[in-house]
Amino acid sequence: MQSLAIVGAGIAGSLLARALQEKYQVHVFEKSRGPGGRMSTRRSSDSSWHVDHGAQFFTLREQSNSQFLEKLELNDVFATWNARVVYFKDCGIFEESPFREPHYVAVPAMNSLCKKALQDLKVTYNARITELKREDYGSWSLLTEQGAVFDNFDWVVLTAPVLQSVELLPEDFENRSLLATCKMESCFALCGPVEEESSWDAAYFHDSSKIRWMARNSSKPGREGESFYVAHTDSDFAQKLQALEKTEGLKLFHKEVKRVSGLDFRLENSFGHFWRYARAQNSIPGDYAIDSRLQLAVASDCFPGTRVEGAIQSARSLARKLSESV
Ligand code: FAD
Repeated sequence: MQSLAIVGAGIAGSLLARALQEKYQVHVFEKSRGPGGRMSTRRSSDSSWHVDHGAQFFTLREQSNSQFLEKLELNDVFATWNARVVYFKDCGIFEESPFREPHYVAVPAMNSLCKKALQDLKVTYNARITELKREDYGSWSLLTEQGAVFDNFDWVVLTAPVLQSVELLPEDFENRSLLATCKMESCFALCGPVEEESSWDAAYFHDSSKIRWMARNSSKPGREGESFYVAHTDSDFAQKLQALEKTEGLKLFHKEVKRVSGLDFRLENSFGHFWRYARAQNSIPGDYAIDSRLQLAVASDCFPGTRVEGAIQSARSLARKLSESV
């Protein structure tokens, strides 16, 4: 059996690993201490709360993407989120209307989908891959920032946010320069309990506010524990907050949230998280990038669809391609 190294345990990497486990000897490498990537969940040390601070929900517009999750037996780890949704303008609610299409969330937490996908598979956490080395005899070695070497891989698939994958790709990788044209926006998340709960579960901000989205995390199916809210900024405000000293940044974020939504985060129990590469602004044609000569490929949400469903589609298409190659 050929061996396959997958860099990244976000949704793309996790689904690929599960889909290819019977065709390849799969080994996943993840720089964080758990799976999920941008579909992450933060938990308190005493388990009194957990909150999704990255992706909030996902769509399944393409039937083939939902069939893919079904085939991987992952249907029991996501559910429909029936939220009370409002739209804010000029610091007040101007419209209430339900989501226009089904919005799904992993249960009981956003990273549950990746967790289940990787169950019983070989995953090395806390392993940031810093270099891919093609040996003279054609196989790949992966080097971690701690200096560990994992060798003898026939294939490597990179699933990091695309601009980070580009840094690892050799110069002669087909379409490397095309992948590098993807622009990614940042986002800052503020998560915490509020003084007085809202009447709504999810809110969009349609004016010039620096806040884009807010949600009551506990309104999603399967969430237990203390009620937490999450707020997300636009890219410019995220960069500005990140440049400030931590407490100062959180205070400014808190002030803006209160101004536009009226919600008062209890700052002493809140935390912030900066996502440098949150979402792709433009998509790259195709569903994945592959260089069959090098036996190296990229799966990502930078391809059409972007977002979680784009990453699912990318994993599905690349899994089919790599299944056919053996
Ligand atoms: P990732 O989830 O980024 O996974 C890549 C993994 O690779 C990560 O776990 C990372 O730690 C790891 N990694 C990176 N470099 C290395 C390395 N060198 N070595 C080892 N591991 C490495 N999408 C939606 O559909 N709906 C939403 O509501 C939504 N909201 C969002 C809100 C925020 C704040 C953010 C940040 C994103 C949001 N998105 C949303 C986008 C969505 O999260 C992504 O499109 C999707 O999760 C991408 O999955 P992925 O597997 O391609 O990448």
